[in-house]
Amino acid sequence: MDPYAATLEHEQVLVRRGKRSGLFTIVAVHSTARGPSLGGCRMWPYDDARAGLRDALRLSRAMTYKSAVANLPLGGGKGVIMLRGGTSMTPERRRAALEDFADTVQALDGAYITAEDVGTAARDMDVIASRTPHVSGRAKKHGGSGDPSPFTALGVEAAVLASLERAFPGRSLQDRSVAVVGLGNVGLRVAKLLARRGATLLVNDIDPARKADADRLGARWVTAAEALSAPVDVYCPCALGGVLDHETVSHVQAPVIAGAANNQLASDDVAALLRRRGILWAPDFVANAGGIINIAVELSPGGYDRRVATARVRAIADTLDAIYDDAQSADLTPLAAAMALAERRVAEAEG
Ligand code: NAD
Repeated sequence: MDPYAATLEHEQVLVRRGKRSGLFTIVAVHSTARGPSLGGCRMWPYDDARAGLRDALRLSRAMTYKSAVANLPLGGGKGVIMLRGGTSMTPERRRAALEDFADTVQALDGAYITAEDVGTAARDMDVIASRTPHVSGRAKKHGGSGDPSPFTALGVEAAVLASLERAFPGRSLQDRSVAVVGLGNVGLRVAKLLARRGATLLVNDIDPARKADADRLGARWVTAAEALSAPVDVYCPCALGGVLDHETVSHVQAPVIAGAANNQLASDDVAALLRRRGILWAPDFVANAGGIINIAVELSPGGYDRRVATARVRAIADTLDAIYDDAQSADLTPLAAAMALAERRVAEAEG
């Protein structure tokens, strides 16, 4: 095996020091085999430049898999604006950094389309759009698809329903219990959708101010440890990544895990542990693809149509069904089956 190809699969990586801000801006294009690479712009203080570059390389690769599994005509890319720790960002400096990033995007001539991510918001996309057309997820008043969170939540609801159906065929959410961790933009919406279907909810957030939301939902507020080990039907992680490792999985009693959080598994081998424990895990990059599916509709030739987006996001249930079928027939974990599906689709596009 070629050791360089194994560690660097990317088509292009552009690192530029911005003329205005002096900050490094990075775009990593992992694959354009299925279409222009799409991925958010992360604006984040990194300990050193290598960490920022590693993030761009890792996250752009993950985007290739996410879009291919969702069958979108998109490849995988990611942008990074590397902030310097300890430096305050005035509005002027922020604008300068975004304009520098926009120039990096523009230099790639459409091979990469940016979107919001950790540290950036729809209004930042408007600044970027002043210098390049290769931007998505802009505010609705600018013809964009707006906040992706409602669609991500809708997709997670579909993933919860499809996974429950697989674990307990023919049973509805009525009288089922779900532990939702992280009541943010996505998690709170997921909790509301599940409550509407009659599920009993246990919820937790690191922010105690969220307890008021829990009360309004009629959900029981529990600690993170209680949520993890509760004898519920579904554990639904909607906060940060890395929550499932060999230690935490040993406490999980729920037969199904499906949630919005990115990178839920601390390492890929946790997928095998989940399977050994008889826990059905909906791969995170399948369950949380609603946001990017929504953006793909915005980028489609017909332009944005909310009804089309809603139907395509709900189809996450069908994608998961196919992945669970593949996993069962090939004796694989759902993670391995989802990765294999993505790899097949990228290879087909590469011809
Ligand atoms: P958010 O910041 O709005 O919400 C996260 C919530 O989790 C916050 O309320 C926060 O207080 C809480 N939280 C943080 N650490 C916690 C912990 N240790 N225990 C309990 N609660 C904790 O973020 P979001 O947009 O709702 O995204 C949630 C997750 O879904 C993230 O992992 C994100 O990467 C992923 N995701 C989001 C989208 C989207 O459309 N927003 C799309 C795909 C994936």
